[in-house]
Amino acid sequence: MGRPKRVKRNAAADSVKLRWPNRTIPFEFKDTKDAKWITLLRDGMAKWTRETCLRFVPRTTQKDYVTFFRGGGCYSSVGRTGGKQYISIGYGCEGGGIVAHELGHAIGFWHEQSRPDRDEYINLNNDNIIKGTYGNFEKRTDLERTDIPYDFGSVMHYGPQAFTNNWNYVTIETKDHRFQHTIGQRADISFIDVKHANHLYCNDICKMRLHCLNGGYENPLDCSRCKCPPGLGGIRCERIATSTPGCGGDLIATATWSVLNSARVGKCYWRLLAPYGQRVRFEITDADYKCDSSCAENYLEIKHQRDMQQTGFRQCCNAVPDTLLSKPTFPKPPLANWEGQGGLNGLLGQETGIDNTFENYVVKELPNVLRSTGGRADISSLFTLVDSLLRAGSGKKKK
Ligand SMILES: [Zn+2]
Repeated sequence: MGRPKRVKRNAAADSVKLRWPNRTIPFEFKDTKDAKWITLLRDGMAKWTRETCLRFVPRTTQKDYVTFFRGGGCYSSVGRTGGKQYISIGYGCEGGGIVAHELGHAIGFWHEQSRPDRDEYINLNNDNIIKGTYGNFEKRTDLERTDIPYDFGSVMHYGPQAFTNNWNYVTIETKDHRFQHTIGQRADISFIDVKHANHLYCNDICKMRLHCLNGGYENPLDCSRCKCPPGLGGIRCERIATSTPGCGGDLIATATWSVLNSARVGKCYWRLLAPYGQRVRFEITDADYKCDSSCAENYLEIKHQRDMQQTGFRQCCNAVPDTLLSKPTFPKPPLANWEGQGGLNGLLGQETGIDNTFENYVVKELPNVLRSTGGRADISSLFTLVDSLLRAGSGKKKK
């Protein structure tokens, strides 16, 4: 007897009727004189069109369409309601990420924390929620079933202080506190937000399967490549993404502590590798970023799980306590998603830096990375090995 298969639901409205036909959302602006406001709206739309097959077109005679207006606050209905529907982008809603959030509703998404599985990821502090606003935290059951994982970094996820009655207290607490500053970002749509939208609207575009790895999928805007989780690249998401010159790359954990310093400004991706069954111990001893309750623009992000799609835990602000990643709280290492000897576990660190950024990671490693090389493996040979393991592993599936 097999285990009952758990049914996951993402945050998209299940009803196909709520979706927009022809991947196209007709729109109009209620106020065409406010150039700054219109630029803001165009920025929000561009976030979706850059990454998905969805298109926003100025409305001509279409029956169903979106009207942007400056209402009191920021809001939208979920999915296509039929006829004219409003998206309010009022004062205080400045920011392309907020517009992208409201458009996410119009595309068909509820809030990420409305997913029925959200109690596995977050706690709600009901005492701190403004009376009468509990409805904003309701779980929904009318959501689409997919394997798309819960995403703390979704632009559709509320931040820690959403609807709080006291700004000193949070209403949403992530069960794993290291994700506390990942939730609520409104800088951009996340990998999973984009995957969702492409899944709903663009699934039939690419005819050829590329067998993308690590949660990647065929990119509807370029079917010859997979669309990869941030930090990964290559045609099939098999390797680490390209960083700003002067930082990033694959590192092999060793038996002694190694120190990684970087003051590079840009996007830096590191992958720390350890042999199958071993884990990487990782400590952040110093970091200096702009403080924010949701780390959105400048931060260190750590992906430690097998699933590389999900936004990792993010740190901004000052150095974090050592305990954050110390041994007792360090999660179980991800299972290698391929079989055989010499499988490697990956840990991916991402840093998006600004001027005066300085990180100092301490990377502890594990013994004998590659016995075959007698511990003298250099990065390029490891690269080759990882590639060959990925190729070998993708054909075999564990029962
Ligand atoms: Zn919302």
